[in-house]
Amino acid sequence: MNEHHHQLPAAAPGIEAHLLSLHFGAAATGPKAYIQCALHADEIPGLLVGVHLRRELARLEAEGRILGEVVLVPAANPLGGAQAVLGGQIGRFDLATGLNFNRGYRDLLPDLMQSLPQRLGPDAAANTRVIRQACQEALQAWEPTSAADALKRLLQSMAVDADTVLDLHCDSQALMHLYAPTPWADTGLALGRCLDARVVLLAKESGDNPFDESVSRHWWELQAAYAGAHPIELGCFSTTVELRGEADVNHELAARDAQGLLAFLEQRGHLAPGSIDRRDSPVVCEALPLEGVDPLTAPCGGVLVLRCELGQAVHAGQVVAEIIDPLSAQSTPVHSRVDGLFFAHSKTRWALRGERIGKVAGAQAFRSGKLLSL
Ligand SMILES: [Zn+2]
Repeated sequence: MNEHHHQLPAAAPGIEAHLLSLHFGAAATGPKAYIQCALHADEIPGLLVGVHLRRELARLEAEGRILGEVVLVPAANPLGGAQAVLGGQIGRFDLATGLNFNRGYRDLLPDLMQSLPQRLGPDAAANTRVIRQACQEALQAWEPTSAADALKRLLQSMAVDADTVLDLHCDSQALMHLYAPTPWADTGLALGRCLDARVVLLAKESGDNPFDESVSRHWWELQAAYAGAHPIELGCFSTTVELRGEADVNHELAARDAQGLLAFLEQRGHLAPGSIDRRDSPVVCEALPLEGVDPLTAPCGGVLVLRCELGQAVHAGQVVAEIIDPLSAQSTPVHSRVDGLFFAHSKTRWALRGERIGKVAGAQAFRSGKLLSL
């Protein structure tokens, strides 16, 4: 294993931040996998999964079982890790700007459409190498001004030439679930089965350039742009793994999730066959459109009382929660708009008007535009 310490630009004189990446196997000798933990620095389950992954990857490397290179970033957001307000950690947004650490990555397509036309040819594998090189050039040309953008460029640069990218997050309180690209639905389902996930949410573009899409979306966009002219592969499977809820942090879950991720890496050809013990998942995993998720919204402020359990199948019109005004004692119901799976909700029991308090995954797409929360 090689350790790389990447220095981030100082936000102020005397303040330094570093990012650590751990490199297992050997670069440029086979496929590349990239895994990062807790890009939202207050989403702790991924940090413990990373600890288990590090130990297992070291063992697999010693046994010669890693094919190519596996890069593990065990704590992807040292900037967010240092932020707190009044005793509470703030790891989702950059306090200086209010911007989400998982939005605003570089949209590579405009740069690629400028730089690629004279460089593509009739060989798909050769085109993949050219596209990856052009992506790195585009990211090098990006001159971020803020420390947060410098971190984003660094993370995107480390992942953009990988075949498999796993971004480990969690929800507030939730079942295990994934976000994956629609063109990779089958691969997303395979990962879902490795992790006992109940649902994989699919989108081709979810809005505001989150990290996972920033390393994969240009592949199917280039396929469409050069259809009939040049063969272009889908060079990168990327996904956001939601490791249940914020408080689901223990060794039993982390060890199981690490084994599930490694089983998936073996399926993808990053580990020698037979490296990981696999069992058939007892959980049925469904792939559903992200456009079919109903983000339940509080119609008023008050006490949040849940009326359904996580994992419950609900129908359109069903009361999933109620908001109770403690001054009037009036209860306002919150209905699901879709038939689907109640898979996530807020961990707090006080809701403000307009706040998202839960999510139901339905089978029919009915939303468009920006599909993610702030
Ligand atoms: Zn997150």
